[in-house]
Amino acid sequence: MGQPLFTVLGIPVHVSIMHPFMLLLLFQSAFQHGPAFGLAVVVAASASVLLHEMGHALTSRHFGLQPTVVLAGFGGYTAHQPARRPRDEFLVIAAGPTMNFLVALALNFVPTPEGDDAGMVTALVGQISFLNIFWGLYNLLPIMPLDGGQLLRVTLRKFIRKTLTADRWTHRVGLVLGALMSLLFAVEFHSLFGALLLGMAAFENYRALQDVNRMDADYRADRPHARVGELLRQARTAFEASDFEAAMRFCHQARAEPELSPAEIRHAWHILAVSAARVGDLDDAIRFAERVTGSPEMAQVQASCLLSLGDAARIRSFLRTPAAVLLPPDRLEALKAAARNAEV
Ligand SMILES: [Zn+2]
Repeated sequence: MGQPLFTVLGIPVHVSIMHPFMLLLLFQSAFQHGPAFGLAVVVAASASVLLHEMGHALTSRHFGLQPTVVLAGFGGYTAHQPARRPRDEFLVIAAGPTMNFLVALALNFVPTPEGDDAGMVTALVGQISFLNIFWGLYNLLPIMPLDGGQLLRVTLRKFIRKTLTADRWTHRVGLVLGALMSLLFAVEFHSLFGALLLGMAAFENYRALQDVNRMDADYRADRPHARVGELLRQARTAFEASDFEAAMRFCHQARAEPELSPAEIRHAWHILAVSAARVGDLDDAIRFAERVTGSPEMAQVQASCLLSLGDAARIRSFLRTPAAVLLPPDRLEALKAAARNAEV
């Protein structure tokens, strides 16, 4: 950012080269009343912007956030370290418009001058007062990135615990209100400049809304998988420690998650089948093992459970399934023998 142009109460103030030009452009109509008056209005406008930023800057310095003021384009902004608490952030943002209202209020107490320039001075004081009230109100519009939009975001984030939901509502309000205000400025106030600025703000909110939706989609896609992965890892650890009850519990939790990949489902059924067999829930073990098709290991689990149960009818129906083909010859022979023996 380079060297500040000057400091106010120890706060560095940078001024972009565009700032005076934009103000001249904005207040060219004031020059109809003569160059001195026009220039005075431009200086007053600049001072109103600076006072507004000083409100932000002094409050953020109070919280130790090392502010820097930049006067850029037709407005300004105060850069500072992020506030530690939402309450601090709220106060820093609110201090800008508050400063403008305080200045307008103070101007009420300026004594009416006497002499030749009395009319001119009164007009100028009136202009400065109007500018401060206008700048304060304009900045309070709940349209990001204006102060009002930022206040809305801090407030919603405080009351809606989900940041993404809060931000989505902030930008929805910004988009709709920005578009409506842009229309109002164009049609009602005949201010193409104002309409353009608010239209740009509306578009910014539209883009931010898309960003929030994208982040939300990533978040949703990521989270269940991270959770399923973690649950299956815990199931595996419990299984290896021979804590089969715990292994089954983690697997059931994983199965309850909304988005499982086919590989994850197989993994869960696998651990469930072996664990159930180990704790003696043979029927459950067979049921779980049946879900994993084409696995020689799962075919073996089914075979040993069926042998233990000694139900010839079930063994015979198992021998007709594709899983039986996956069994080693000796196991297959044992099953066939069991089925025959039971017939006798
Ligand atoms: Zn502000």
